[in-house]
Amino acid sequence: MSDILEKIFDKIDSYRDEMVELQRKLTAIPAMSPNYEEGKGEVAKAKFLESWIKERGLTDITHYDTPDDRVKEGIRPNFVVKLKGKNSDRKLWIMAHIDVVPPGDLSEWGGDPWKMRIEGDDMIGRGVEDNQQGLVSGLYAVLALKELGIEPEYDTCLIFVSDEETGSKLGIKYVLENHKILGKDDLIIVPDAGEPDSSMIETAEKSILWMKFTTTGKQCHGSTPEQGINAHRAAAHLITELDGLYKKFDKKNNVYEPPISTFEPTMKEANVTNINTIPGTDVIAYDCRVLPEYNTDDVLKYARDKADKIEKELGVTIEISTPQHEKAAPPTPNNAPIVKLLAKGIKDVYNVDAKPMGIGGGTVAAHFRKMGLNAAVWSTILDTCHQPEERANITFMVKDAKVFAHVMTGKI
Ligand SMILES: [Zn+2]
Repeated sequence: MSDILEKIFDKIDSYRDEMVELQRKLTAIPAMSPNYEEGKGEVAKAKFLESWIKERGLTDITHYDTPDDRVKEGIRPNFVVKLKGKNSDRKLWIMAHIDVVPPGDLSEWGGDPWKMRIEGDDMIGRGVEDNQQGLVSGLYAVLALKELGIEPEYDTCLIFVSDEETGSKLGIKYVLENHKILGKDDLIIVPDAGEPDSSMIETAEKSILWMKFTTTGKQCHGSTPEQGINAHRAAAHLITELDGLYKKFDKKNNVYEPPISTFEPTMKEANVTNINTIPGTDVIAYDCRVLPEYNTDDVLKYARDKADKIEKELGVTIEISTPQHEKAAPPTPNNAPIVKLLAKGIKDVYNVDAKPMGIGGGTVAAHFRKMGLNAAVWSTILDTCHQPEERANITFMVKDAKVFAHVMTGKI
C-alpha cells in the first residue's frame, strides 16, 4: 500500500471515537418525513450536520432545498459539501440520506431509539445503519484528506438529501431534475445497502410488475354448477397458463440473484365464505421481477393473451390491473470506473473480491441510473435497517471510510 494511503488510514483510525460520537448526536435528532404521523422533517438534523461540518473547516457548501409546506420551515433540506480535487472535470459523489423511518413498536426496543447505545462493537439506535453509517463514513473520508492536506484525485462531493425513505421525490430526485449538478462521467457511490461481508456492489435492478387479475363468472349453488360460471376454476386455469411466463421470458443474467426473471402468483383474495357456493368473482395477484433485458409491456401482453384465451374457453371475463409497474433503470456497467475503483478499495481494505450484482428492484440509485449516471451502491452493513434495535458495526463504519478514501485517491 502507498505511503499516502497508509497515512490516510491511520488518520481514519484515529477518528474512531469521534465517529461514534457523531453517530450519537445524529441519532438524537429524529428526522422523519411529514408523510409519517410523527414526522416533522429533516431541517434540525441538517442544520446540526451543516454547522458541525463548517466547524471542521469544510466550508464549500451549497443548498438545493426542496419547498414543502407541510413542514414548519417550508423546506426539505438537500445540500452538497465539496472538497476540491486535482481534477475538476469529473466529480466523485457520495450520497447519504438524513431522514430515518419511525421506530415502530417501542416495546421491541431495548432502550430509547433516539438515545444511541453501544453493545460490544455495535451501535444501536434508529438511523445508525440507515443511513448514518454511510453518512459518517463518507464525511470522515473527506475530513481525513482535508485535515492531512491531501488533494483527492477528483472534486469530491458529499451530498446529503431528505425524503429517501418516502420515495426521494423531494430529495435526490428533485435535485437531479432541477439542478444539473452531475455529469455523465461522474463517479457516484450510494452507501445505503450491502452485505456484512462487503462483497456486494449493487449496480442493477430488475423491473417490478405487480399484476392483479379479477375474474368474473356467475355465482351459484355448489350442487348446480351448470347454473353458474366458476370464477375460481378459471383463475386456477389462468395460473397454470401463466407458468408459461418462465419459458417465454427465460433469459439468464448472472449479475442477478436469482439470475432469472421471476413470475410468482402471490396474494389470493378471499372469495365466498361457504363451501357450497360456487364463486362468481375471484381475485389473484402476481409479483413479477423482470430482467431489464425485457420490456415489461411484453409481459403484460402475454398475460392479456392468456387471459383472453381463458375468457373464451370458460366464459368468464378477466380484468388486469397493475398496482405497481416500475421499469428498471439501465444498469451501471460492470466495468464502469466507479465499480472498478470501489472493488480495488474493498480488496485493499477488507481483502474481499466484491462483485457487481443486481437485486430484485427498487433502490434509490435508480434515480441516477434513469438519468444515464453510473451509480454503485455499496457499504458493509449488518442489514438491520427499519428494524427495532437497528444496529451498525463501528469497525465497518471505520473501514468503509477507508474504502471511500481509497476511491478518492484512486486513478482510473
Ligand atoms: Zn436508506
